[in-house]
Amino acid sequence: MVKTKAMVLREYKKPLMYEEVDKPACGPGEVLLKVKAAGVCGTDLKIRDGLVPTKELPLIPGHEVAGVVADTGADVKRFREGDEVLVSFYIPCHRCRNCRQGRQTICEQLKGRIGFEFDGGFAEYVVVPEDCLISKPAAITFQQAAVIPDALGTCYHVLVRRAQVQKGDSLVIVGGGGGLGLHALQMAKGLGATVIGVDVSAEKLALMQSYGADLVIDGREDPCWSKTVADYTQGRRADLVVNFVAHQASIDEGLRAVGKGGKLALVAYSKEVKFDALYGHLNEIDLLSTRAATKADIQECLKLVLAQKVEPVIGAVIRLKDLNDGLQMIKEGKLKGRLVIDLE
Ligand SMILES: [Zn+2]
Ligand SMILES: [Zn+2]
Repeated sequence: MVKTKAMVLREYKKPLMYEEVDKPACGPGEVLLKVKAAGVCGTDLKIRDGLVPTKELPLIPGHEVAGVVADTGADVKRFREGDEVLVSFYIPCHRCRNCRQGRQTICEQLKGRIGFEFDGGFAEYVVVPEDCLISKPAAITFQQAAVIPDALGTCYHVLVRRAQVQKGDSLVIVGGGGGLGLHALQMAKGLGATVIGVDVSAEKLALMQSYGADLVIDGREDPCWSKTVADYTQGRRADLVVNFVAHQASIDEGLRAVGKGGKLALVAYSKEVKFDALYGHLNEIDLLSTRAATKADIQECLKLVLAQKVEPVIGAVIRLKDLNDGLQMIKEGKLKGRLVIDLE
């Protein structure tokens, strides 16, 4: 059996192990990818710590994958060896009611996700269903491509599919200087919204400004920032507040920043946060949950990057075996953009 390298999670809350593993083989309808770049995100921290559902350990995580087709199983028709691709990491049934309505991330018979229920891309090789592949245009690098399925896709899903942002809307992005927030900010500007970015360091405020925020607020210096939003919008408040943080204070303040009939969208999630349903009732505020990105969302994001309407923001690039250090960087919240593993 040919051996290759991978980062393997053997025990929750413990560092992943850099190991030699059997090179995976692809079955019918599946493709073997040589991974070229893999994005790392906060969800990988949750996976490591056993806070989100996965398959039984051991698991090779990594759901943000770009690479080259190295082998194809029987019945694979649209891709062949050498094709450059990125991966849509949900594996939906395509037949249920939700799938037929274009909501594949809440498929009623979801088969699983690459990097959660199936081994993922923190490895030299990964097997994925052909159906999950999206062709990577040559103008986009593997590192940029690895950032698109989640850090861009999730933002597109919440702004366009869930919140249906319109030109002229006032938007608040809580955590706007983070690895997702900076992409949401660029997309919201592209959709014609006025964007107020909230974050907590001078560096992140400057980043939000450089990516086009109309107003930036330091949530630490201005803890009652919903008032600042009210002032800035002549009392109307925001049409949409998108929360990428999920700390209770940011939910509470964000809710007060939503105008009557507006929306509060929660991208970050936790079992602990509470929503003031009385305030929601009095103001008819829509609480929007949002789950990841569909393949169609990811394809739309590719178009935005190709048209240079959104720039993938890469904060740091590391080697596969340094993944544990990378997860620590994410935990400390100091990255200025997304973390990417380079496997070229
Ligand atoms: Zn992710
Ligand atoms: Zn389905």
